[in-house]
Amino acid sequence: MNRKLFLEDVNFKGKKALVRVDYNVPFDQLGNISDDARVRATLPTINHILDDGGMVVIMSHMGRPDGMAVPSMSLAPVAKRLSRLLNKEVTFVEDCIGPKVQEVIKRMKPGDVVLLENLRFHKGETKNDEEFSKELAKAGDIFVNDAFATAHRSHASTVGITRHMSPSVGGYVMKNEISYFGHAMENPVRPLVAIIGGAKVSSKIGVLKNLSKKVDKIIIGGGMMFTFLKSIGFEVGKSLVEEEILDTAMEILKQTRKDGTKLYLPVDTVVADRMDPKAVSMIVPVQEIPPGWMGLDIGPATTTLFSEVLRDAKSIIWNGPMGVFEIDAFSRGTFAMAHMVANSYAMTIVGGGDTDVAIHRVGESYKISYISTGGGAFLELLEGKELPGLAALTDMKP
Ligand code: AMP
Repeated sequence: MNRKLFLEDVNFKGKKALVRVDYNVPFDQLGNISDDARVRATLPTINHILDDGGMVVIMSHMGRPDGMAVPSMSLAPVAKRLSRLLNKEVTFVEDCIGPKVQEVIKRMKPGDVVLLENLRFHKGETKNDEEFSKELAKAGDIFVNDAFATAHRSHASTVGITRHMSPSVGGYVMKNEISYFGHAMENPVRPLVAIIGGAKVSSKIGVLKNLSKKVDKIIIGGGMMFTFLKSIGFEVGKSLVEEEILDTAMEILKQTRKDGTKLYLPVDTVVADRMDPKAVSMIVPVQEIPPGWMGLDIGPATTTLFSEVLRDAKSIIWNGPMGVFEIDAFSRGTFAMAHMVANSYAMTIVGGGDTDVAIHRVGESYKISYISTGGGAFLELLEGKELPGLAALTDMKP
């Protein structure tokens, strides 16, 4: 892909920047924002444009309202939080296209910030509709995409809009994600170790195949370990197994050998009679999983093995938990891994919602070199795919 334009490449003086962000933040039962990291992440981009003498019109999606105006998915509470974080007024507009928007943006002066209502209240957003894209584009002069977490989707506000605005540039969130990741994958300080966990192999086949060519070592944990173990003849009881892709799992193991990549499978596991906080559990070598029991975490011997594997790592990429970490009894492996990654001397990149949660739960997130803001988009980068939202940005002139 050609080098794209980023916000430092353009001058915002007197211009309205239409900034696509990902403010899809979680709320608690009382309707308060429980984690505003996604809002904070965009402050450098917003401040850069304001410092440059520009105006900022922000748009985002929130949840999946399927083209209808659902009050619980309004971005109004985010406008308040953004206002507090920026320490300046943020005008909220109850729509993202149409006369209300035009009226507000007509009156904007340099330094002003406006947040538009949830893009997905209109069906045209997820359909990448041409007319809707054109309407959105009327809200600004320069398009800035800072929504890395949505960059793997071809939607009106990420892709369609770039046909109606020029230039279209990436913000700081986008730039950081791409540059950390690009550096780790294309020009890494080796050994580069990938830690891949999570429920299923099927959702990460592309990731594993691509990583096999790029990294020096792959560590496997989580539910997916049992499909690998079964593919090489182990009895895994009632553990999560994807029977239909046993051959694929075997092929991945063969490919890593061919690529000269070392792959490490767990040697012991925490098994239980059911997936329940009150279940009876015990630690067994993977050769001794009793019939009727299921493996729900990696065991202590595996943690020791993986710490040896990570000892000489200079770069680490981690996606996916080592076990069912939502249940205390099966969270040790994931939390031990979080400590190991955080305290390694490597450049560390962590991505994916669950992995992010695990790193924060152990209180060591500040020791990670880069925590990706994207789940699906991060996985697509790991797969070596081109992100449509990034590809659609304006190329830098040679
Ligand atoms: P993913 O979205 O593929 O990264 O998977 C994350 C989910 O995998 C988490 O909710 C974990 O509870 C689940 N998981 C991890 N280990 C296991 C396991 N051994 N058996 C079943 N589910 C697991």
